[in-house]
Amino acid sequence: MLRLNDLKLPLDHEEAALRKSILARLGIEDADLHSVAIFKRSYDARKKGDIQLIYQLDIAVSEACEATLLARFAGKSFLGPSPNTEYTLLAQAQSNFPAADQQRPLVIGFGPCGILAALVLAQMGLKPIVLERGQDVRQRTKDTWGLWREGKLNTESNVQYGEGGAGTFSDGKLWSQVKDRRFLGRKVMTEFVKAGAPEEILMVSKPHIGTFKLVKMVENIRAEITRLGGEIRFDTKVETIHREATSDDQGQITGLTLSSGEHLPSSHVVLAIGHSARDTFEMLLDQGVYIEPKPFSIGFRIEHPQSVIDAARFGEQAGHPILGSADYKLVHHCKNGRSVYSFCMCPGGTVVAATSEEGRVVTNGMSQYSRNERNANSAIVVGIEPEKDYPEHILAGIDLQRSLETLAYQLGGENYNAPAQLVGDYLRNTPSSELASVTPSYKPGVSLGDLSKALPDFANEAIREAIPAFDKQIKGFAMNDAILTGIETRTSSPICIKRGKDYQSLNTRGLYPAGEGAGYAGGILSAGIDGIKIAEAVAIDLLKLDIAI
Ligand code: FAD
Repeated sequence: MLRLNDLKLPLDHEEAALRKSILARLGIEDADLHSVAIFKRSYDARKKGDIQLIYQLDIAVSEACEATLLARFAGKSFLGPSPNTEYTLLAQAQSNFPAADQQRPLVIGFGPCGILAALVLAQMGLKPIVLERGQDVRQRTKDTWGLWREGKLNTESNVQYGEGGAGTFSDGKLWSQVKDRRFLGRKVMTEFVKAGAPEEILMVSKPHIGTFKLVKMVENIRAEITRLGGEIRFDTKVETIHREATSDDQGQITGLTLSSGEHLPSSHVVLAIGHSARDTFEMLLDQGVYIEPKPFSIGFRIEHPQSVIDAARFGEQAGHPILGSADYKLVHHCKNGRSVYSFCMCPGGTVVAATSEEGRVVTNGMSQYSRNERNANSAIVVGIEPEKDYPEHILAGIDLQRSLETLAYQLGGENYNAPAQLVGDYLRNTPSSELASVTPSYKPGVSLGDLSKALPDFANEAIREAIPAFDKQIKGFAMNDAILTGIETRTSSPICIKRGKDYQSLNTRGLYPAGEGAGYAGGILSAGIDGIKIAEAVAIDLLKLDIAI
């Protein structure tokens, strides 16, 4: 099998044109080409009048033809042998696992990282026990709607906590920029498809699933983990980790205490707690686990009519079914030394209330698979750093997040409404008192006013410079009626729980910090990939395998 990269065809090409184009590119006869499968399809919309589809293809030709083509195009990046993207499990435990001298591994958190870690551990026969503070996804959906519809927050079952993790009520974007030489992302996607995700996610370059499909998928993966001998406990918060001092100055994890008071012994614990479990971060620091502060970003959500973004990106092709609703990715380096960028862009979606703590307001974005809501939204955020912006102590980033989220709650009217302002008013530094053509989607509601009060001066200065600069790339981005809603503070974890080459905490053996909360992922796919790596690292240590990963 050969992989043919970078084959470009016009957006509306006929089906037969693909085959013809392969034959022309490779200089082979029709009879030589036995089969064609699309591995990935993306598009290049830089020229709006001439949008191109870009294919990565797997093609089968005869053995002799394959050898000739490889020799003819040796050293050319557009042709080579198709890589093997199948995932192979590293090990298989004995059916009597755990033996007398073994303990079942524990996984804290059932977000994408914990889900993939638990699934791969279960597939290797290691019967993990998953501990998730939030509720199963059905109950969690009801609890989350409680905040969105009635302004009632459940601090243990919400957008951040519960089965599926932080990305469950999301756009379900499934791409990442992490290096992935072992095609672990393909393993994540393949498991998602087995669990009910649309098959096209394996083929399109920027796949997304949308909230409703994610909910069903997560339930199916849970059923598979259970079928393989794993166990998942909801409404079960890990209150304490037990860490014993060892003679070489390293600690060793020995078990956990749960919110029920139960003590669970284990020498292997995956810590996949996401970026919002602030109480658990505090507990880990108190227990002596090595933690460093790390940069994150703060800012607002911006909402435009999706039609404005589609027209700016696709021109006359706006609305084309292959292109779908347009997205964007923007960066601006400001005069004051800060960088502003767009983050978690949700085409045709809604802005959601994403707090997990009382008396605080946090925004984020989600959409359905169809992406057909009226507005496009994304976070517009400013990068901040521990040394410059929160140098006081290791968890000072959390203090900063909390103070900004509290301020947003107060500006919103102390009822979980979010403070909001029209983009035109924000740029002119005038408080807003009336909505215009764009209706904000945030529920339970917004309170118009002066949103600049929600952020430090340097951040407002940077965002006020960036929005007009973004308008040069996306016409209409700085439109008067677009809406800013505050506040975005949970863009990534404010800490890194450092681990070594063996994936174990730098000072606590048997503790495997993983996923977004530990600073090793940023998004659903990268968190899933990290979960697989962690499951492999646990298996190597637990089964005493002589394998390097
Ligand atoms: P999480 O998903 O945060 O999961 C951590 C889990 O640990 C939680 O369920 C939590 O309840 C549990 N937990 C925490 N502490 C404890 C404890 N002490 N005991 C037991 N359980 C505990 N990313 C994308 O790639 N695409 C998107 O479209 C996208 N949209 C998003 C939309 C929203 C609204 C949000 C909030 C996030 C979105 N993200 C998106 C980000 C993505 O969800 C995260 O990057 C990803 O979920 C991180 O995975 P994780 O498993 O590391 O952590």
